[in-house]
Amino acid sequence: MNIKASELIAKLMKLGMMATINQVIDSETAEILASEYGTEVSVVSLYQETVIKKEEEDKEEDWRPRPPIVTVMGHVDHGKTKLLDAIRKTNVVDGEFGGITQHIGAYTVKINDRPITFLDTPGHEAFTTMRARGASVTDIVVLVVAADDGVKPQTIEAINHAKDAEVPIVVALNKIDLPNANPERVRNELANYGLVQETWGGHTLYAEISAKKILNIEKLLEQILLQAEMIDLRANPSLMAKGKVIEAKLDAGRGPVATVLVENGTMHVGDSFVIGVYSGKVRAMFDDHGNAVDEAGPSMPVEVLGISSVPSAGDPVEVVESEKYAKQIAQKRQELLRQESAKKVRKVTLESLNELIKEGEVQELRVIIKADVDGSMQALKEALEKLSTSEVRVKVIHSGTGGINESDVMLASASNAVIIGYHVRPTARVLDVAEKEKVSIKFYNIIFEVTNDIKAAMEGMLSPEFKEEITGGGEVRQVFKISKVGSIAGCIVTSGKVEKTNKLRMMRDGVVIYDGVIKTLKRFKDDASSVDAGQECGIQLDGFNDVKESDAFETYRVIQVAKKLE
Ligand code: GDP
Repeated sequence: MNIKASELIAKLMKLGMMATINQVIDSETAEILASEYGTEVSVVSLYQETVIKKEEEDKEEDWRPRPPIVTVMGHVDHGKTKLLDAIRKTNVVDGEFGGITQHIGAYTVKINDRPITFLDTPGHEAFTTMRARGASVTDIVVLVVAADDGVKPQTIEAINHAKDAEVPIVVALNKIDLPNANPERVRNELANYGLVQETWGGHTLYAEISAKKILNIEKLLEQILLQAEMIDLRANPSLMAKGKVIEAKLDAGRGPVATVLVENGTMHVGDSFVIGVYSGKVRAMFDDHGNAVDEAGPSMPVEVLGISSVPSAGDPVEVVESEKYAKQIAQKRQELLRQESAKKVRKVTLESLNELIKEGEVQELRVIIKADVDGSMQALKEALEKLSTSEVRVKVIHSGTGGINESDVMLASASNAVIIGYHVRPTARVLDVAEKEKVSIKFYNIIFEVTNDIKAAMEGMLSPEFKEEITGGGEVRQVFKISKVGSIAGCIVTSGKVEKTNKLRMMRDGVVIYDGVIKTLKRFKDDASSVDAGQECGIQLDGFNDVKESDAFETYRVIQVAKKLE
């Protein structure tokens, strides 16, 4: 307003507010103050200042088909890595030096002169991590299933991850070179998961391949192109580039380097850009062959040099008019990031569910179920989905048997779901990830309790009256069988402290095999009331003798939590 600070301070004093020159005033006071000088205030949030504004013409007729971006998923050892290698090799133009040897996180191959871009990190972890950050780039998932092995747990996980992201699947039935390969049987299994081939009345494209013997790789690539045509992928190469960071690192010689996948527009050497919370000006770009390039169009992965600092995978990249503007936006984003990280993200929990429903933020409660056995998993799934009301639908987006793993947590984070563990537990590492991603995991031993809690949560009547507090954890090192007494587990306490009065949960591969009291706790020959981390002890469980070496345990006590009055 071109008014001296001292005058404003005096004016504020007249209005009854004592302010110093460094003091921040709220927007209401600012509005009153401004009106005293006949000036109007428009309140802009910091967030709005981080949004890039551009004026450029985007004409319909400039939109062109763009290559599909593909992620390879499937069960471990079914041949994802081998397939990515095979595709690279298939495409080496005769005589070209070395082919694609550079690892930049993604590469592009051509079939009949039409390009396809593959993300170089197979598996659904990378896919889901990107989604969790709101950075889905994948257009098509290639699901690798070994024809001698069929549908396995991670195959189902991959299918659910792709379905949840609404990304179409092309199936690669791999290892058909093996004598015991049975692609027909696998097609049948996959049909049960909705992946029905066209000749059976479905829409899923299949290719029978051998990644090892490099058989039918071109056929698979053709199927991918066919699928791409069906989803009609387009971009406008004449716009300023927009894309996502696939990988980023600090290179000793070259400084911060990021592999950027251009999603729309074209990136040129010399362009100024915002990348996550940083800015930059393209100093040089390299393609997946390590060749310097001057520009990169839609769906092309390139290594970009000239960034102010190392961004994160999944960060958005956007070219802007000027270096100055890029720096300004980056600075505002860093400010916002500092503010945001001070706040908590609103992830769905059973405790907050009713509030979120009321605020209209949630219409669907998404659930991931992990159970010890298939029967309980199915029963839980049915029971939960039946709880759907007209207000909120309960949807099980993934269910499986076995311990809760990192991939479950990342899927929950990506789709804002809660995890229900039934007779299963996660490892400490997985708990850490859940904590970081703010994903809520609940554990139960009785189906009735699960349905009760979810129902109560939906109605906002959840009363978490009892809470478990983990007191310690450890591992079984050796088992001593003593006649007439039973099995004594020789254990090492690895964290916290184990007390005789605690309850104990024994786990094998994440599945709870015992949950009850400690019958005896001994240090050497003597009874002990507690054992600290780092110490060994002998534990006997009540009426349970089936402990084995390498079983893990956690001890806990149940505490009563006062009901919150809000
Ligand atoms: P990933 O865990 O899914 O990445 O699986 P890999 O690509 O590492 O492959 C696992 C194993 O299967 C390796 O020993 C490969 O050599 C083998 N393999 C992969 N594809 C084929 C194939 O088409 N035929 C045969 N016989 N073996 C294969």
